Amino acid sequence: MIGAGHNGLVCAFYLARAGLKVRVLERRAVVGGAAVTEAFFPGFRNSVASYTVSLLNPKVIADMGLRERGLRIVCRPISNFLPQPDGRFLKVGGGLARTQAEFRKFSAADAEALPAYERTLAAVADVLRDLALKTPPNAGGGLRDLLAAAVQARRLARLPIERQRDLVDLFAKSARDFLGGWFESEAVKAAFGFDSIVGAYASPETPGSAYVLLHHAFGEVEGKKGVWGHAIGGMGAITEAMRSACIDAGVEIELEASVARVLVEGGRAAGVALESGREAPARAVVANVGPRILYDRLIDPSDLTPEFRRRVRSFKVGSGVFRMNVALSELPDFTCLPGRAAAEHHMSGIILAPTLGYMDEAYQDARRLGWSRAPIVEMLIPSTVDDTLAPAGAHVASLFCQQFAPELPDGRSWDEAREAAADLIIDTVDAWAPNFKASVLGRQALSPLDLERTFGLAGGDIMHGQMSLDQLWSARPVLGHGDYRGPIPGLYMCGAGTHPGGGVTGAPGHNAAREILADFGLGRRFARGMRRPAR
Ligand SMILES: Cc1cc2nc3c(=O)[nH]c(=O)nc-3n(C[C@H](O)[C@H](O)[C@H](O)COP(=O)(O)OP(=O)(O)OC[C@H]3O[C@@H](n4cnc5c(N)ncnc54)[C@H](O)[C@@H]3O)c2cc1C
Repeated sequence: MIGAGHNGLVCAFYLARAGLKVRVLERRAVVGGAAVTEAFFPGFRNSVASYTVSLLNPKVIADMGLRERGLRIVCRPISNFLPQPDGRFLKVGGGLARTQAEFRKFSAADAEALPAYERTLAAVADVLRDLALKTPPNAGGGLRDLLAAAVQARRLARLPIERQRDLVDLFAKSARDFLGGWFESEAVKAAFGFDSIVGAYASPETPGSAYVLLHHAFGEVEGKKGVWGHAIGGMGAITEAMRSACIDAGVEIELEASVARVLVEGGRAAGVALESGREAPARAVVANVGPRILYDRLIDPSDLTPEFRRRVRSFKVGSGVFRMNVALSELPDFTCLPGRAAAEHHMSGIILAPTLGYMDEAYQDARRLGWSRAPIVEMLIPSTVDDTLAPAGAHVASLFCQQFAPELPDGRSWDEAREAAADLIIDTVDAWAPNFKASVLGRQALSPLDLERTFGLAGGDIMHGQMSLDQLWSARPVLGHGDYRGPIPGLYMCGAGTHPGGGVTGAPGHNAAREILADFGLGRRFARGMRRPAR
């Protein structure tokens, strides 16, 4: 296994549980990939990359016994808080009636529309949730794939016609068009539309952006669908519990073991060579790294066809995010909702992007200037619900900022631009909560280039590749290889660059294990959750 990201750990666990001998080689000194908790300033720890949990699949949680291993996920009292330029604010979550009351401050019609909107999104998200743990039918595959396609298509065809219309809308429309069909208030549209541009480097005006909104809605926390929560101890608590499940299943994990090359012998993947020069022979190689890293950097071009290489080179990466972690002496005091004592809005996802127009401008700016003059910031303050992260009385915040060009347009390096962008982000939060800047004790700034260097994410892409329609389902990462099998026999993929894509879901790792075990004649063991001695 190349990489100990959460999907690598999930896949390794299922393989070892079914009796295979699995060795995981991880470049960093810690497991978890983008789902880790690290100290970033003396006395302060945080989920330094991925920071909020919802999409993690309940089957994976149960199979790996993550709760029994100490994982505790808590829900936020409300999901979002959006300050508005006119001095008002919008709170979303905490129950339908409460959200409707909030919407009424902006539009009575939007409050009326909310129940039907929620039902629609939930129904379509149910379909996606159902498909998440299924291997996409492989284009150009055999009878098994045709049958899989028929079964999955039947699931969609059985949906009432209104739901099928919703699906088409969500797959093809821009977030603005989709939301415009439901709501009139800009604040309300921003609250839902924010999800459409997370990790997408696109405008809410971009056709297909509505799908990204849906992708972020198919999770659940403690059985509550569409809700986002916090893992006590940060995202690293998830991957530490996964590591422990792997060790108990017999997986060997080597840290600081960077893979340089996949060895191919007689047209089959035969193991890997490490940066250290050591070789590790294997009957199969599974890549948790994204497709661009795997095929562009770890496989000799002569082992791939020119057509495949060209396809992978055009696999779009670069989600355009900038991530900051800040240590705070006190909580932000918002002009629109004053108070420094922890309140429910401090415990929510604070969205500093009041309208879809603001988000569109941020994208247009980023295309021309590298980043927006008025950046989109989502701030979470996990220390308000978790006292393991900061000293008593102090806080940590995650700032997740969208529309920062993966590569700067004027040829400048992010190494030159990082601090200026970070200063602007701090100033942006300060404009809404004027005690913020003075409360920052320490900061960590991760540009798209830093995300690539630190976490091995090509182009800093948080999903290993854009979640655009041409890169989903059977076409993720390349049509004909949507079933976790690479173009070289014995080479598999199990990371976010495969179906169902990015996020801390565990689904790609789970599905890849099922396919690998089928190829090893151990498919039944996977289906029945059976263990047997390693071989
Ligand atoms: C800034 C940021 C914010 C995010 N926010 C959220 C969020 O709040 N919620 C959510 O659900 N998702 C979020 N995501 C997305 C989510 O974290 C990722 O999609 C997911 O973690 C990917 O998991 P993975 O196991 O597929 O890959 P990764 O986590 O990328 O793991 C790949 C592993 O491979 C290792 N590796 C790379 N190259 C080599 C090599 N040559 N040899 C050996 N090992 C190698 C890497 O070090 C890494 O450990 C965020 C991501 C980022 C970056």
